[in-house]
Amino acid sequence: MPPPIQMHSRADFRKFRRVTVKIGSRIICNDQGLAYDRLRALSGQVDLLRRRGMEVILVSSGAVAAGRRKLKELPGPLTYRKKQAYAAAGQVALMTGWEKALSAHDLQAAQILLTADDLADRHRFIHAKNTLLTLMEMKAVPVINENDTVALDELKFGDNDTLGSLVASLAESDLFVNLTDIDGLYDRDPRDGSQPPLITAVERVSPSVLAKAGRREGSPDGTGGMYTKVRAAGRLAERGMPSVIANGLTRDVLPRLMDGEELGTHFLPADKPRGARKHWLAFAARPKGRLLVDAGAAMALVDQGKSLLPKGVRGFDGLFAAGDAVTIVDSDGGAELGVGLVNYPSPELRSIMGRRSQEIEGILGFCHSEEVIHRDNLVIFAKPAASA
Ligand code: GLU
Repeated sequence: MPPPIQMHSRADFRKFRRVTVKIGSRIICNDQGLAYDRLRALSGQVDLLRRRGMEVILVSSGAVAAGRRKLKELPGPLTYRKKQAYAAAGQVALMTGWEKALSAHDLQAAQILLTADDLADRHRFIHAKNTLLTLMEMKAVPVINENDTVALDELKFGDNDTLGSLVASLAESDLFVNLTDIDGLYDRDPRDGSQPPLITAVERVSPSVLAKAGRREGSPDGTGGMYTKVRAAGRLAERGMPSVIANGLTRDVLPRLMDGEELGTHFLPADKPRGARKHWLAFAARPKGRLLVDAGAAMALVDQGKSLLPKGVRGFDGLFAAGDAVTIVDSDGGAELGVGLVNYPSPELRSIMGRRSQEIEGILGFCHSEEVIHRDNLVIFAKPAASA
């Protein structure tokens, strides 16, 4: 498969061949429940794009919101367990809606439910990718959501903005479109009644851009707010993929966007993007422990792009096997420097940390690698803001 086309202007969107579109709960549902007319409108737009030769992958929220209007309300606050129960009923309504709306255009919906664990494991990640690519060969429209009913807190993506960006990356999309119920990223929070200017293009998701998104919450049914949307766009930019945050209620938003119309906020891809595997390592892999490294190693890793040697490891926590992801922490300042795949399991690392690589064989009786983490299996967060 050819690599995603890297383009910097909206006019170039016309040349794109694969787009991942995330649709937020507030578009999918209204106060009464599933807003079928919106699903129908969006399906018509998907059909239009497909006729122009584009593949479309949908990441659809709305299970919790739709289920909430279907099940008996229990007293007390909206707990996580209640949300999981709502999602069980709502996912059925959601997929029935998509099936009906897409089939009106002779398009076949295909449901994929994922947990964070599915994408954290490199093998399962590849399996998910292959299924997705096969579905697209079969001309189906994948409709993806988090498997809310089984995902426990520690296994959760957290929000569909994060899930959507991981799917966009997994599918090697040319563009990620995040549809919500406001027009894009504003200079200030527009919900205070003022009319701040809409930001039409973001060159880099710097800490000040993230600050504009605020840390505010999304709707009670959805989980993300503008912060998770901008963070997801920043992560994709580092991967070399452009994104747009736009209003899903705008008429014909998808074809108009793909025609290059200036709707929403366009996040430009980074000049020196990270490869797909490093993107996975940075954002999908789940670290099993933390390695504390000394100042010399920290400098070698961050400034010189070197591998991590046993000598630079001062300590660690967690239980991990060879090949697991671990976070690398500066033992002086406590800053998280990056993530890497470790070559030695924790009991062996305990024996060799602080020692020279030449000593490994004498200590363990074998030496399958001189490095604790090889630079090829390492991601340094040179720009911590986008990976916060
Ligand atoms: N997966 C949730 C749902 O379908 C939504 C989570 C989100 O929008 O961030 O209801």
